[in-house]
Amino acid sequence: MGLGLTMLFEDGKRKALTFSYDDGTIHDRKLVSLMNRYGMKGTFNLNSGLFGKKEQAVINGIDTDFSRIEAEEVKTLYAGHEVASHTLNHPSLTGIPSNMGAAEVLKDRYNLEELTGELIRGFAYPYGTYNEAVEEMLCACGIEYARTVCSTEKFELPQDFLEWHPTCHHESPRLMELAEKFCKEKSWEAEVFYLWGHSYEFSQKDNWQVIEDFMKYVSGYKDEIWLATNMEIVDYVKAFKNLRRSTDGSILYNPSGKTLWFELYGKSHVIHGNEKYGPL
Ligand SMILES: [Zn+2]
Repeated sequence: MGLGLTMLFEDGKRKALTFSYDDGTIHDRKLVSLMNRYGMKGTFNLNSGLFGKKEQAVINGIDTDFSRIEAEEVKTLYAGHEVASHTLNHPSLTGIPSNMGAAEVLKDRYNLEELTGELIRGFAYPYGTYNEAVEEMLCACGIEYARTVCSTEKFELPQDFLEWHPTCHHESPRLMELAEKFCKEKSWEAEVFYLWGHSYEFSQKDNWQVIEDFMKYVSGYKDEIWLATNMEIVDYVKAFKNLRRSTDGSILYNPSGKTLWFELYGKSHVIHGNEKYGPL
């Protein structure tokens, strides 16, 4: 990637932090307000077929209010964040025929686009289940990235955005250790801390402090970290991969509309959208 150039993120930052929270339960209200207080940005993966559903469920042996948010609050509640698809009704996509899976994704996209006025291009796999056929179906449905539930405890960008493995779940015992490593250690490549979970888990275990402590800690490093939604990161990386370079390598062309930052021989550069840059 990058023709020998090292990609940097927006404003020349080397690190990005993003959140990914699933299912759209009423506890998202508190999570979003905490994220807004600390200037965090994230992605909320919603099942539009289940909006407004009241539900008490026993999850991991604990009685949990699993009620979903109302359709009417989607636009205002998640303003400034990304709304992404999690299918209409939360089926496991490896367990149903592809045409039914496609209907689950397209109907959800359609509903969420109607509610937000935005294009919905992101996805998280219900139950974390996927295979090659599911990935192909998502692609055909206009989905550009999909999050799994396989924590890597690393900060690397994925090879394939349809298998985007998160860094960790917020319940990882290593959460703060990883946060410290991410914030303090110098990185050479662009790195992403990708945190995922469900907001009902904080209510269930009464441990909102865990996420507030995390946000408080990382917000101390805001000057070095790009706080972005999942889709913003994907769009940026795709635009960078799409940079063109002259035969002798000295001139770059950025066909995207995005300003891009990169490093070459220890020096950082900026190339604006639809502009040529060089000679390097
Ligand atoms: Zn889910």
